[in-house]
Amino acid sequence: MNTIPPFDHVGGHPLIDFVNTKMTPGGQLVDQLARNGDVVAWMVDVGMIEEGTVLFSVSDAQDLLDEVRAFRQQMRDMLAAIVAEQPVAEETIGVINAQLVHWKATPQLIKTDNVYKRPFAYKLTGSAQLLALLTYTAAQFVTDVDFRYVKQCDKSTCIRYFLDTSRNHSRRWCSMEGCGNRNKANKHYARKKRGG
Ligand SMILES: [Zn+2]
Repeated sequence: MNTIPPFDHVGGHPLIDFVNTKMTPGGQLVDQLARNGDVVAWMVDVGMIEEGTVLFSVSDAQDLLDEVRAFRQQMRDMLAAIVAEQPVAEETIGVINAQLVHWKATPQLIKTDNVYKRPFAYKLTGSAQLLALLTYTAAQFVTDVDFRYVKQCDKSTCIRYFLDTSRNHSRRWCSMEGCGNRNKANKHYARKKRGG
């Protein structure tokens, strides 16, 4: 069995990080969302929700993981289309809009450092609200992100995506520590072999 690496956020956008929870470290397929609880843990880790926001029994929620994974696959397909310079499918927009109907949030005044802010407080009372909150990230992605800078990792065995926010948009790998370094090491080795 493959060890599941801890969550990381190399995608540059939470939607991409969500898609990246399915990955191929070392060439083997690994899914960081293996149980219902993993979905909530990931949402807390990425800063989408705070602990205690989920007001239903996640472990008892049937189909939650299947629905989240199915949506993740749709988002992966959307990223693949974007990288291939194709428009986002109308069907995908339809899925996003259908799920957003269940988005439920309340603005709340909160005083921090003597200044009032009005963040949204989410009330996740069921799977549909949880999925809607994930979907809201997708909606933000579609409206706010410059698609030219969405890329797939250059390493041939890696299936991760990232938003290239580097100054000259020359980023090639999902992470320097993982794919980049190994790639560089390979090149270094190849150079040495050639005697250069
Ligand atoms: Zn990679």
